[in-house]
Parts: sequence; C-alpha cells; structure tokens
Amino acid sequence: MFEARRTRPMRIVLASSEAVPFSKTGGLADVTGALAKSLDQLGHDVVLIVPDYYLLRQSAKGLPPIYDTGLKLTLTMNGRPITCSVNWSTLPGTQVRVLLVRQPDFFDRRQLYQEHGHGYVDNCERFCFFSRVIPEICRRMVLRPDVIHCNDWQTGLVPALIHSQYAGSPGFENTATVMTLHNMAYQGRFWHLDMPLTGMDWRYFNFHHMEAWGDLNLLKTGIAFADQITTVSPTYAKEICTSDGGYGLEGLLNHRRNDLVGILNGIDDDVWNPEKDSLLPSPYSAATRSTGKPKCKAHLQERLKLPVRQDVPVLGMVSRMADQKGFDLVMGSAERLLKQDLQLVFLGTGDPHYEGQLKELAQRYPQKVAAEIGFDESLAHQIEGGSDIFLMPSRFEPCGLNQMYSLRYGTVPVVRKVGGLADSVTNLNGDPASLNAATGFVFTDYQRDVFAQTVERAVETYRNKPVWDRLVQNGMAQDWSWNRSASRYVDVYQRAHGRMAARNAENRC
Ligand code: ADP
Repeated sequence: MFEARRTRPMRIVLASSEAVPFSKTGGLADVTGALAKSLDQLGHDVVLIVPDYYLLRQSAKGLPPIYDTGLKLTLTMNGRPITCSVNWSTLPGTQVRVLLVRQPDFFDRRQLYQEHGHGYVDNCERFCFFSRVIPEICRRMVLRPDVIHCNDWQTGLVPALIHSQYAGSPGFENTATVMTLHNMAYQGRFWHLDMPLTGMDWRYFNFHHMEAWGDLNLLKTGIAFADQITTVSPTYAKEICTSDGGYGLEGLLNHRRNDLVGILNGIDDDVWNPEKDSLLPSPYSAATRSTGKPKCKAHLQERLKLPVRQDVPVLGMVSRMADQKGFDLVMGSAERLLKQDLQLVFLGTGDPHYEGQLKELAQRYPQKVAAEIGFDESLAHQIEGGSDIFLMPSRFEPCGLNQMYSLRYGTVPVVRKVGGLADSVTNLNGDPASLNAATGFVFTDYQRDVFAQTVERAVETYRNKPVWDRLVQNGMAQDWSWNRSASRYVDVYQRAHGRMAARNAENRC
C-alpha cells in the first residue's frame, strides 16, 4: 500500500484553520485531514492544531470524543490579555493527535470566516491569535517539532514567528517551516495598523517580509519566511508565478521559485469512495456501476423533486459560490443549455448574488433545475454518485477536489484547463485515439459559448453509450489516493530541514 518509510519518523505539526471531520468550508479541510492521516500511515508522528469552533461542532455528527488538556495560555494582543484553553482529540482511524484551540470570543461563531458575504471584522485578530498560540503550544507541550506545516493565510504568521522569535530556542532547535498555498486569491490582507496584533517587530513591515501594497499581508508573510513553499498542483505552481495567478505576490514567488513545488492533492479513500460510501443509497464499484449508479441517480432526482428519469443526463455542481468557480459562465449559458433535455443540480453557498440567481432559475424551471443553497455533506456525496456529468468551469482552480471525486464516482467532469483541473482531467477530443486515455471534457477560453459548446459535446457523448462507458471506466480506473502526494510532502519537509540547517549555520557565523 504505502511506500516503505525511508527516513526516520518526523514530528510534524500541521497547522490549519479547518480540518475534516472537525470543521470544513472547502478543500483545505479535506486536504489537512487526509494529509495528516497519510503521514501517520507513513509512520510519522503528526499533531494537528486547529481552532475549536465549539458552537459549530455541537451540531456536527460523527466527531470523535474531545477532552480538555488542562493547558491554558494567555497572550497579550494590543495590550489586552487574551486567554485560550486547549482541547484534544484523535483523528479517527489514526494516531494523529488533534489539538483544538478554544477561545470562545474568537471561534464560537456561526461560521468560520464570514457571514452574509462579509468577512468577520476581527479576522486579523482571530487568526493572529491562533498563529501566535501555535508555537506556544509546541513549547508548553514539549512537542519539539521537526516541521511546522502551515496552510493558507490563517497560519501565515507562524513561519515568521519561528524565524524571528523561536528559532534555536529550547524546543525549536530543529524546527523547519513549510507553507502551503491553497488559494492565492485569499491572502489575509489587513490595514497596516493591525501590525501590532502579529507580535512582530515593525521593522518587518517592509516589502521583503510582511507588507504588500501598503497592507499587512499574512500570506506574503508565510511565503517570505517559510523554509519551503508548496502549492496544490504543478500547473498552479507555474500560474502563481505570473501576474495572472500571483495576485500581486508573483514577484516574491519568482524570487523563491527554487523553494516552491506543486503537489497535487489526493482523495481520502475512506471518505470519497463509491464502493463504501454510506451516504449513497446504493454504493457501487466500477464493476457494479451499471446497477448501483442508476439507483443513486433516481434517489437524487427524488430527493431534489425532479422527474425520476434514467434517460435524461443529470449535470451536477457542488461548489462554494464564488467568482472563482465560473458561476457567471453557468448562469450565462443556462438558458441555452436548458433548451436541451437535461437536468441541472446545484449545491452551494456563498455569494448572495449567485445564490439568488440559482434559486430564481430553479423556480423558473422546476422540472429541470434544482438548487440547494447551503452546506450539506450528504447531498454533496449523493450529487457525485447520482449525476452523470459534473461541472467545474473555474476561472482559476489551485487543485480542485470535486473533479477527482467525480472521476472516482464515474461522473464525467467538464472542466476548464487551469490549475489542478488541467493536471487531473484528460480531454476527449475529435481524434478517436484520444478515447484510450480521455476522462472528461476540457475547454480553455473563459467564454460562455465555449463552455456551452463543451457541455453540449458532453451531453451528445452521453447519448453514445459505448463511448460514454469507456470514458467512465477510464476515470474510475485512476488512482487519486494520497499515497504518492504524502511521500512528496515528506521530501519537502526534508528539504525544509536542509534550508533551516543552512540558515542556522549562517546565523552562528
Ligand atoms: P475549494 O476548496 O476551492 O472550495 P475544492 O474543489 O478543492 O474547492 O473543494 C471543495 C470541497 O468542499 C469538496 O469536498 C466539496 O464537496 C465541498 N463543498 C463545497 N461546497 C459544498 C456544499 N455547499 N455542501 C457540501 N460540500 C461542499
């Protein structure tokens, strides 16, 4: 199964603002939970540190028991003492210890980052606090990490703190940092007067470290200070070094090009596996798909009050409703697509503008469109299982997980050729030979007509059963598990160590 361990086990602290099964708004949570599990299976000692969204977890199902460690920590932020406690749990099926930072004022909220399309006004304070607590937990619990692996802007401050305040001190003699960029569009930009919240000296508020375009920028901070940087697909690693994909940080990313690597995310096989997916009415494998998948399709149509018909293609989309995800293409071509005999199924939440447009579309076409606004894990699985085609026409997509879930569930993806979508879906083109390797439909230009034509091509192919079956089989045969990617992260951790050792030696001279 997993590649044999080649090196001594490492103590890895994974820091993230969300992780399955404790909290989730998107792919970040899937990735942190699954990566922790895979590193554990490789024999490493993994500690996951996340905020404790206490209110949200009260209604969550299937969480492991959570206990109090008894540890309390107080930090002074802007002259104000703020205290948190630390709870602990175990990631199900693993030996991964999970530490949950309980600070009710910051984390007992209805959502993680925003409500009604507006970020919480104290997001800088919330996540500077979380980041500053992480090294303190390591120190007080004597974790002595070999690596602290940070994810996105919410933990971007950690590499800076390690570098400037903790490096070489007891418990941190051997600690390297890695920063993973899951999405350059979210950088944690705040006005400069928030700088004292970081606990960093003002001298770091400069172009090379924490400042970008006049603001404090927490993602930039992570990129500037981390020993190694990763992002979530090889194509996205190239895109973010350009002005189109770097969102203003392409200069720094180019500067650190030799320390940047793209590693495609994987799928957690225990969660996203049609053979043992308990959320599906009728789990299926590649061999039993022809009986299992129609049952899932009928169940989905029934659940969403659409006509139950096997002969009509169901096109699904599960997504955060954000500009990034291509909703303007979908909405702009919906009327054209709905002239055909097909059903459109949406699940998502986010931008109220898109939520409204989708609800209205579903009201106008009750026989053809279903739009569920909200976050619903079981429906997400049932859309993957019950749809024939999955839509991901993203403007940009760092990695994307749903296209991989779709391939696994025999649901043919229609994707734009960007980021991780380009790295994971192979286009069926006019050349019959392309059917040997094709797994979906890929378009390049971000234009309504191009998108609509591609969907039409998919729907037409759906009616050609032998070709469709081959496409589905090709997709289901692929391996998107974490085995490969987790080993690549371990390589990065080792490189980070090399860089840290060189840095420490330089400091000693
Ligand atoms: P991103 O991280 O940009 O949101 P990804 O494709 O990488 O996009 O991951 C999205 C994850 O979030 C998938 O697991 C998807 O099923 C899930 N998801 C997104 N929106 C919803 C929703 N409304 N309900 C349930 N799951 C959702």
